[in-house]
Amino acid sequence: MANERTFSIIKPDATRRNLTGKINAVFEGAGLRIVAQKRIWMSREMAKTFYAVHAERPFYNDLVDFMCSGPVVVQVLEGENAVAKNRELMGATNPANAAEGTIRKLFAESIEANSVHGSDSPENAAIEIAYFFAGCEIVG
Ligand code: GDP
Repeated sequence: MANERTFSIIKPDATRRNLTGKINAVFEGAGLRIVAQKRIWMSREMAKTFYAVHAERPFYNDLVDFMCSGPVVVQVLEGENAVAKNRELMGATNPANAAEGTIRKLFAESIEANSVHGSDSPENAAIEIAYFFAGCEIVG
């Protein structure tokens, strides 16, 4: 398995409930290292750009509103097979379908306010990491 990096967001529903540490304990407990991290408040423009792939979906405007409704924590996770491992730890998009013990099963409020984002491929991870972090901000 390759050592990999993936991009993660702790979403506004989770920062509002003070769950940053609990969520990151799941990542660290599974062997992923947080090699870059910052707390930001996304502008509407940033949220629209980040989720542009969903622009045609009926929930796009609500999703953009939600992502800039409060602070988020953007971070880079590193470890063996990090992209797939992060997705496994996150659980299904809809918490009603998420497996026991996953972050979304434990913490998500709804299919939209589902606590975390994680890149779905190494290619998208590279794009998303570069959108939020300069190389000198990532310290492995
Ligand atoms: P993910 O990769 O598991 O985050 O899922 P997607 O890439 O399909 O969707 C991106 C984000 O859009 C999700 O994490 C949710 O916050 C939101 N979302 C996805 N599907 C729905 C939906 O049917 N309704 C609403 N309101 N939000 C959704």
